[in-house]
Amino acid sequence: MLSQPADTRKIAIIGTGMVGTAFAYAAVLEGAAREIVLVDRTFEKAEGEAMDLNHAMPFCSPVNIEPGGYESCADADLVVVTAGAAQKEGETRLDLAGKNAKIMKEIVSGVMEHAVNPIFLIVTNPVDVLTHVAFKESGLPPSRVIGSGTVLDSARFRFLLSDHCGVDPRNVHAHIVGEHGDSEVPLWSRVNIGGVLLDEFCPVCGRSCSASFREKVVKQVRGAAYEIISRKGATYFGIGMSMVRIAKAVLEDEHSVLTVSGLLEGEYGLKDVCMSLPRVVNRAGIGSTIHADLSDDERDALVESGSVIRETLESIGY
Ligand code: NAD
Repeated sequence: MLSQPADTRKIAIIGTGMVGTAFAYAAVLEGAAREIVLVDRTFEKAEGEAMDLNHAMPFCSPVNIEPGGYESCADADLVVVTAGAAQKEGETRLDLAGKNAKIMKEIVSGVMEHAVNPIFLIVTNPVDVLTHVAFKESGLPPSRVIGSGTVLDSARFRFLLSDHCGVDPRNVHAHIVGEHGDSEVPLWSRVNIGGVLLDEFCPVCGRSCSASFREKVVKQVRGAAYEIISRKGATYFGIGMSMVRIAKAVLEDEHSVLTVSGLLEGEYGLKDVCMSLPRVVNRAGIGSTIHADLSDDERDALVESGSVIRETLESIGY
């Protein structure tokens, strides 16, 4: 009988604040890993979170959870970075760039001292800028540096459309592309519900998708983080599950289409900037990019979004 290869799904999480621990908890519930290492600037925080999560073990699939340091990243299949300052009320994600770029540089160098050819999943904001910083500082091929990008924004978009149309969000295929931030671009022309375009779905649900409805949805998607932060101080459940979705696509070689952030190499005329497009994600990281035919407005907005990110990169020396 052929022996099964060992299940070595090991995730290292750097930064065990709200987002890092929401991800760890969701990964445990979803059985996404066999081993999770928690790394934080404050070791006791990582240690306490590991102790707490371990007490969930009798109720879920086995997973070994420990606190650790950069040396624990040596054999990690996925290194997830959520460390850094979080967005404060009224602060944009781009305001965080300078502060978090320094932290990212330090973390990437710490990981690269121990790990050979890791795959990074960058979540710290501004995520597109920091994915670029991680790519440059690591020297890894672009396919191995994934940003969570607009996976969360696309989930918010799908949720709002599903709510309006009365359909399971899993049957709503809708993408937000570009920056994870104020210049992000909803691809209305590509929205597909249960195999038909959005406009063709209107007679099915009986509620029209007027221009004002569309504006309201975009405003809600773009403003979601600000609205949540003003009420509860941080966002972490939606991003936690979005991260599990990406982690599983990598660790289980799912070849899933997700709007992750990664280096653009000429798509839509854009280069030397990381941002989100629908991409195939698998055990090697980012695979092919889906080059959809966009409307002129969508294409222009995407190019504009690329310049917003590029300007920030230049302002911090990249
Ligand atoms: P948090 O303040 O709760 O946690 C940050 C953690 O990082 C802390 O535990 C801190 O000790 C640790 N840390 C800081 N510097 C470190 C270093 N050099 N090495 C190791 N650990 C370090 O913040 P949070 O709410 O968890 O948010 C984390 C980041 O995720 C923020 O940048 C936030 O904006 C971002 N975020 C991104 C998305 C997304 O969609 N990409 C969504 C939500 C939040």
